[in-house]
Order: sequence, then C-alpha cells, then structure tokens
Amino acid sequence: MKKHQHHNDQHHEHDQKGHEDHAQHHNHQDHHRMMIKDFKRRFWVSLVLTLPVLLLAPMIQNLLGLSWSFNGDRYVLFALSSIIYFYGGWPFLKGLVDELKKKSPGMMTLIAVAISAAYLYSSAVVFGLEGKTFFWELATLIVVMLVGHWIEMRSILGASKALEALAALMPDEANLVHGDHIKKVKVSELEQGNIILIKPGEKVPADGVITEGESDLNESMLTGESKPVTKTKGQKVIGGAINGSGAIKVEVKGIGDDTYLSQVINMVQEAQGQKSKTQRLADRAAFWLTIIALTAGFGTFIVWLLLGRELSFALERMVTVMVICCPHALGLAIPLVAAISTSVSAKNGLLIRNRTAFENARKITTILFDKTGTLTKGSHEVVRIVSLNETYDEQAILNYAAAAESSSEHHIAKGLQRKAEEENLKVPESKDFNYQSGVGVSAVVEGKTVKAGGYLLLKKLDITAPNETAEDGTETKIFIIIEEQLVGFITFADQIRESSSEAIQTLQKNGIKCFLLTGDNEKVAAAVAKELGMDEYLAEVLPEAKQDKVKELQAAGEFVAMTGDGINDAPALAQAEVGIAIGTGTDVAAETADIILVNSDPKDIVNLLLFGKATYRKMIQNLGWATGYNVIAMPLATGFIPGLMISPAFGAALMSLSTVICAVNAQLLRREMG
Ligand code: ADP
Ligand code: MG
Repeated sequence: MKKHQHHNDQHHEHDQKGHEDHAQHHNHQDHHRMMIKDFKRRFWVSLVLTLPVLLLAPMIQNLLGLSWSFNGDRYVLFALSSIIYFYGGWPFLKGLVDELKKKSPGMMTLIAVAISAAYLYSSAVVFGLEGKTFFWELATLIVVMLVGHWIEMRSILGASKALEALAALMPDEANLVHGDHIKKVKVSELEQGNIILIKPGEKVPADGVITEGESDLNESMLTGESKPVTKTKGQKVIGGAINGSGAIKVEVKGIGDDTYLSQVINMVQEAQGQKSKTQRLADRAAFWLTIIALTAGFGTFIVWLLLGRELSFALERMVTVMVICCPHALGLAIPLVAAISTSVSAKNGLLIRNRTAFENARKITTILFDKTGTLTKGSHEVVRIVSLNETYDEQAILNYAAAAESSSEHHIAKGLQRKAEEENLKVPESKDFNYQSGVGVSAVVEGKTVKAGGYLLLKKLDITAPNETAEDGTETKIFIIIEEQLVGFITFADQIRESSSEAIQTLQKNGIKCFLLTGDNEKVAAAVAKELGMDEYLAEVLPEAKQDKVKELQAAGEFVAMTGDGINDAPALAQAEVGIAIGTGTDVAAETADIILVNSDPKDIVNLLLFGKATYRKMIQNLGWATGYNVIAMPLATGFIPGLMISPAFGAALMSLSTVICAVNAQLLRREMG
C-alpha cells in the first residue's frame, strides 16, 4: 500500500487525527484493563462473603446435616447478602440503568431484575414477610456472573492485544545521518526527507526508500511472509521490519501515524469496530432473547402463583428463567470471532476493510482479475524502441515518452524512467500532464504535445495502427504521438507472478471461474489467459467497461469478486461484491477495495476465501451455542417439567458455561490460519 502524498498543512491535520485515534485506542484498552481489575476485585470479595452465606443457609445446613444456627443469624445473612448484592451486583445494576437509558434492555437488565427480585423478596422475609429467603442462591448467582464477565473481558482484551503487538514493533530511536556524522534521535523527531542509517539487526524506524546499501529485511510481522526479502537502492522499506545483515541508508518518507504500520493498525481497529451483517443478526437475536426472557420469567412467576405455589418458589423460578436466558454468550459470540479473525488476517497479509465482504467471500462464484500489476509483477522492462518517423530517432522517442510520463505512477512510466536512467538521458521537463486511465497520458514537452498510450489511444485519435511485424510478441506496446503524429512505439516485457498460476488453479478447483480483464491489448491478454488457464478473457477494456462486466455477471446471478491494482480498476472494485486490491497498487484501488492483499500475492486470495469461510462457520457455530442451549435449559428452569428443576446458581453456571464455550470456540479460529 502506498502512502498518500500530503500537502504540508493537510499532512499536519492528518497527523493530529491519527494521534487522536491512537489516544482513543489506548484509552479504550486502559478502560478495559480497569474493568477487568474491577470485576476481579468484586468477584473475590463476593466469593469470600459467599462462604459464610452458604454455611448459614438453612438449606445447605440441612444438606450437610449440620446445625449452627444462632439467634439473629438471619440478620447476619441479610447483612452479608446486602454487601454482595450492592457491591458484587453493582456492575449489573449500573448496566440496567445504562440499558434503560438507551431504551435497549439487554443482559444487564435481565441480571439486574433477577438479582433485585431475589434480594428484595428475601429481605422482606427477614423483616417479617411469610416465606423463605434465598440469599445463598443470590450470592452464588452474583459470584458466577462476575466470574463470567471477568473471563469475557479478558478474552476481548486478548483479541485486541494483537494490535498492541503490531504497535510495539516500532523502535524508539533512529540514527540520523548529518553529513558524515550520525546522531541518535527519537523516532518522533524524524522528518520527511531525513536520511537515516539502519544498522544490521536493527528495526526500521520509519517508512522510506533505500538510498544506499543492500540488505535482507524481515517483514514477517507485517506481511506474514516469513522469508526475508532482499532490498537495495530505490526500494521501499516499511517501518517495523527487522534489518538483516546489511547496513542501509534510507530516506524517510513516512513517519508516525503516516507509516504503513499505523495505517494497518487504524484499519484493523476500524474493521474490528465495524458490524457485519452476521453481527447485526446476533444483536437482533440478543434483543429478542431479552424480550423472551423477561416474558418467560414473569410468565413462569404468574403461572406458579396461579397454580397455588408460594411466592418464594414462584420468584425463584422467575429468577432462574431470567438468568438462563441471558443473551450473554450471544453478545460475545460474534464480536469475539470478528476481532480475532480481523487481527489474524492482518498478520497474514490480508487487510480487511469491510467485514461483510470478507464474510461473504464464501459465496464467490466468479473472480475477475486485472492483468497488469495484479497477475503480473508490473516489471515493465523496455524491450524495443521503434521509430516510425525520421525526425525522431529511438533516443528522442524514449526521451519524449519518459518526459511525458514523468508524473505517471503506472508501471509503464516507471519502466521508461529506469530505461532513461540506464541510458543516462537527461529527460526534459514536462507540463500540463493529463492521464486517462486505461488509455494513456498526454503532456507538453519542449512546447510540443506528446501523447503516449496503447491501441485505445490510437482509436481515440483516429490513427491507424502500424502493421504488426514478426517481432511483435506478446509485449505491452505503447505508441508515442507528437503533435498529432505517430512517431514510434515502445514495447515492454512484464512477468507473470510466480504464484498466479497456482492461485488460479486452486480457485478453479474450488469451483470458481477466473476471468481476465485487462486494458492491455488482445494478443497479450490471450497469451496470459492461456498460460494461466483462465476461463475467459476480455482485452482493451476501459475502466467503465470493467465495471460493466462486473454488472453483467451479477445480473447473470454470479457472486463476483474483483482483483485489481490500478485507477482503472476502481469502478469495478467498488461494483463487485468483494473488491480485492493488490498491496503495491494505487491508493485509489486500496481505498475502494474491501480487502487489501499486503503481499501482492494472488495466492492469498485462496487464504482469504478459506479464512472467510472459517470465520463465518465459527460465527454460525457460536450463534448455535449461544441460543441453542436455551431451548433445553429454559424448560428446566421454569420447573414445569416434573423431577427436572435447576437452581438459580446452576442456571447461572450453565449460562456462563455457554459463554465460555463460545469464547474458546472463537479462539480456535487462530488455528485455521498461521
Ligand atoms: P490492466 O487493466 O491490465 O491493469 P493497465 O493498467 O496497464 O492494464 O492499462 C491498460 C492500458 O492502458 C495499457 O496497456 C496502456 O496501453 C494504457 N496505459 C495505461 N496507463 C498508461 C500510461 N501511463 N502510459 C501509457 N499508456 C498507459
Ligand atoms: Mg492493473
């Protein structure tokens, strides 16, 4: 992924926003940590107080065949239980108020109603109401609930720890090169354009471009690629990577929140905060479960009273039903899977920007591939320069073309720049640059209008293409037009990525059709499609035509994914159900896509598919665990089934167990990848 070129003040603005994001993130985590501590303390205090409550409970004493009741023991019981209710039950009582304020009753409402009913009734009994107390049930219920919440908080924090691990990759200091001496400075003091020295074994402190030296860089924490990559002058390095055995000098391009790593962290955070369709489904289910629980609870209470049972029994059943039906697991099931899958994906080179699209990857039936830069590397070495006009020789053509392309980010432009450098040409200035994506460029060079582009450009200008010759292989060809006159052409060789073929084969084995969609010429398209064994290809397509092709397939009932890197792919990336951008591609493609392949490796699409599937499966499993057990447990809680009746505390234990199962099941997702 490339950095945005910021205008100075704009840059500043962005920085500040980034800082806020980070601060928020940290606050959020600190808040989480405090909550965990808080739950832990409340749990231990309540547990210690629960022991005497249990020992004083007449029912437990009966059970153990003991009797140590003393005068006024019920007041002791009441005092202890009051502390447990107010101190241990506080988070739930506070939650009730919050939920009612938001007009969305949820699990806190349920727990609070259940424990309050138990507490108020038992207290009334202590002070004279006919009946029996259930303080020990109340105490154990609160203890079990506290432990459940404590575990839940810990697993959520665990999921976001992955982000912290990413942030911790950045070193604190950098070696700033000042003429011939080197100064150690704080990374926060670095500025764009600084030259820094990265010694062997050190971490790269900022994004940049190598200006001197060569080394192997390990970027595995950022890309999931465990093999170190050899990089040399002119190549980009990413902050957070570990330098191998060479010393390199790097010109700083991105610092602080503008680095690739910060962008990844922000993106992962955003995706984790996002709600996918599956998650909204879970939220709705949780809401209905709350309504059902409240209704079933009160219903059970009334039915037992109508059947003539005592108030305490009816209340106990009501409390148990409400506790059993807590949508606790439901509230945890999906978000936890989502958080884990997003961070595991990020570590494996899949940046998820849109979670619904990611979960939908399982439905893909057709994948469209852009050619240049996606299935191929975009290496674009100049092969031939051919002059068709006596006024301009080969060198002049290269010179004019390189000048006209100097503002372009396209592989063609970069290939020309490299060639011009190789030949030691002094490329003239150009102005009035204009780019038509998928067609070509135009600019004014030395007072002349120079255009460069493929066959589509010739068509637009109504110029007849020169006849093909035997030398015209399957290279990409651009024509140079100076002052409306075709003066020559240049051909480029590109290489197919090593993993493209395997990726396509695997996808096809999974029943997915693979189409090639390129702005390049027919001959090149046919050759690439044939070599990779693709199902179909379409050449010389304009950006809108790429989008139209997606629409056409969608209309035919296909579930379409599009993979691309260029500006010309953006409309199609937006149109497709799943838009996948190549990491080294343009910013526009990355911004439009749902998922970014950090390693620019088409094979990662297979991972994306499989992991998207696994994530969805986990979510559905968790939905099942979270709701399914109610079907069995709720009838038992009502007490309407003769001989099968569970206590409030046992109900709470069951409920917590289903939450723990969901949490563990979500963690198992880590095994599916990496
Ligand atoms: P793909 O759709 O396979 O990624 P490209 O992005 O290479 O194709 O664009 C398709 C065609 O558009 C190119 O083959 C070339 O003819 C023309 N083109 C695009 N950008 C440029 C440029 N900067 N200079 C000249 N021609 C260009
Ligand atoms: Mg492309």
